[in-house]
Amino acid sequence: MEKIVIIGGVAAGATAAAKARRLSADAQITILEAGADISFANCGLPYYIGGDIKSRSKLILQSPESFNDEYQTAVHIYTTATEIDRENKIVHTVDSRTGEKKTFEYTKLILAQGGKPIAPPLPGADQDHVFQLWTLDDMDRINSFIENEKPKTAVVVGGGFIGLEMTEAFAKRGMKVSVIEMMPHVMGIMEAEIAGFIQQEMISYGVDLYTNKALAEIGSKNVKLKDGTIVNADLVLLSIGVRPTLKLAQESGLAMGEAGGLLVDSTLRTSDENIYGAGDMIEFEHRVLGKKVRIPLAGPANRQGRIAAENALGKNHEYSGPIGTSIVRVFEAVAGMTGLSLKAARAEGIDADAIVVHKEHHTSYYPGAEMVTLLVVYDKATGIVLGGQTAGYAGADRRLDVLAVAVASKLTVSDLADIDFAYSPPLGNANDAMNMAAYVAENRISGFSPTMTINEIDAYLEGKKAQWVDVRDVFEFEKAHVEGSVNIPIEILSSNLDQLKKDQLIFVYDKTGKKGHQALRILTGAGFANVFNVSGGFISLSNYVSAVTPVRFVLDLPAPVEKTLGESSKEEKVEAVKEKVKEEAPTGPLIIDVRTAEEFSYGAIPGAINIPLDELEYQAKKLDNKERETILYCASGARSAYGLQILKAYGFTKVENGGGISRMMARMKR
Ligand SMILES: Cc1cc2nc3c(=O)[nH]c(=O)nc-3n(C[C@H](O)[C@H](O)[C@H](O)COP(=O)(O)OP(=O)(O)OC[C@H]3O[C@@H](n4cnc5c(N)ncnc54)[C@H](O)[C@@H]3O)c2cc1C
Repeated sequence: MEKIVIIGGVAAGATAAAKARRLSADAQITILEAGADISFANCGLPYYIGGDIKSRSKLILQSPESFNDEYQTAVHIYTTATEIDRENKIVHTVDSRTGEKKTFEYTKLILAQGGKPIAPPLPGADQDHVFQLWTLDDMDRINSFIENEKPKTAVVVGGGFIGLEMTEAFAKRGMKVSVIEMMPHVMGIMEAEIAGFIQQEMISYGVDLYTNKALAEIGSKNVKLKDGTIVNADLVLLSIGVRPTLKLAQESGLAMGEAGGLLVDSTLRTSDENIYGAGDMIEFEHRVLGKKVRIPLAGPANRQGRIAAENALGKNHEYSGPIGTSIVRVFEAVAGMTGLSLKAARAEGIDADAIVVHKEHHTSYYPGAEMVTLLVVYDKATGIVLGGQTAGYAGADRRLDVLAVAVASKLTVSDLADIDFAYSPPLGNANDAMNMAAYVAENRISGFSPTMTINEIDAYLEGKKAQWVDVRDVFEFEKAHVEGSVNIPIEILSSNLDQLKKDQLIFVYDKTGKKGHQALRILTGAGFANVFNVSGGFISLSNYVSAVTPVRFVLDLPAPVEKTLGESSKEEKVEAVKEKVKEEAPTGPLIIDVRTAEEFSYGAIPGAINIPLDELEYQAKKLDNKERETILYCASGARSAYGLQILKAYGFTKVENGGGISRMMARMKR
């Protein structure tokens, strides 16, 4: 009979025990856990502090008793493994409450000890208001501190996943939060423009960002940065990374790997044939990179725990390796990555390129459409997808998972172009953002649409002068544009080519990159030879400058729209709209702009009121005077066509679709 002992009882360890029991009814299975809990949801800790998860008990997925009942596993909590006697196959332990020493015999041992947050040796780091977050105890300490001391300001040191989740949590608990990050932007592993999107969201919610800045010392009510800046801090969270827990393995003489983790083979066996490793403590070959990496994430830990149990019980399951798929939500914004970033691919000498698209997560005419950003990294020679990043509000997670499958399956961008993705108006697009990204990549690879990402443009511009051509409408242009650019809206580009010189280096951009491509085709068709479409257009430009300074072009952005936690109620919005309608001249037509509030803020037809398409149905039910002449418009005329149907359905009798902004402007001039 196998005697399986597992050291560590959370993600990898508990999964290993459960799998082992399913595979073998008679194996003796034992979990040794140093802490007070097994199988708890450490990924959920920030959401309890922030208040999204109300009940602490929801975070404890199994107690030692329930785990034993379900999986007939002896669970020993407060039990630290102190020594592995590999020759006699015995683990020595000590009970942290009583000091009692025990031994456990094994035939197979699984190490699932995870890691620990890095504790920087900083002056002041040992004070009571300075925390790290890794366990339920840590969570309880932070929670009690907030309840008892009522801190007004918080400093989060480190802009990685946990730091950003905790930023949101502290803001939800009413604190003014500042984030200190040594790298040029938060989420340092992501591309700058994806991180820039997240940063804009944080600033919108009133978070102060200190990037490219290092912490020097922690005072009782503030922190001091290395450049002398003082930042108020009633509470400090240190969240600067994780180090694998390797002391026991090292002292037992197990081999360590080149990436600083426990060395395992493809079956997760360590240098001892009877000992397996799983989770945050191991290193493994990255599927795309082909190099050993440590990826401390819950998904890989769970899968590795399962595989280690299978192999400990005689199977020969080879682990394919991680690809580093990870995702974060900060306030409403979501960003994620999978596989290699462009910078990581190029740093490894891979001849890679990337493209960016922004497209609504479902049809633009159906209410609630949100822009989703896709950045796809591919091998230039083969078109194989090496990685990708997504950002947005809704739909970013779905596209990230598609990219993860593409990376893991070594699909090419052309494979992605031809895949049917799920579509109905409220749920997707007949031409999904994923298909679009693939087309754009194909066009870049074939040379049909020379494109550069903002990052590449920034580097390319060193020592060069370029003409920027902004093909958006005049409102959007007036709000913000690259300094020195000429505004020629796409509709009049063909008839205004004489404003441009044929031999100039030209960067053409619209809002998303889509019309920029169209403009590029017009220009190349007219003999312009040195033209590039700005991949991702103005959205990417603004995301990039939000994350990187200095850049080799000038783009002054308006301050991000202020957002508050907890939206105003629908009824309040209706009253606000009614007031606005009353303010308009009661005799002329009521002009309704059905674009989003953000688009509206960039500029609108004089006298128009903004009711975004999402809210039109609700407002239409409540608005009086349905006989008044009403004109709807949006950017292109598509959303207003849908809005027309809504208003008609709610009894508006004199309503018409005014079309897109350009058409409305021409009409107003007449
Ligand atoms: C706040 C937070 C949020 C997170 N959010 C996400 C997320 O959203 N997505 C994601 O993918 N990942 C997330 N993670 C990371 C994820 O939780 C870890 O990658 C995962 O838990 C690793 O599992 P593991 O089993 O390897 O290690 P752990 O879960 O750390 O478990 C290791 C266990 O081993 C025990 N142990 C160590 N040494 C000994 C010893 N000598 N004797 C006995 N027991 C020992 C420890 O007490 C510990 O309980 C988050 C982590 C935290 C802390």
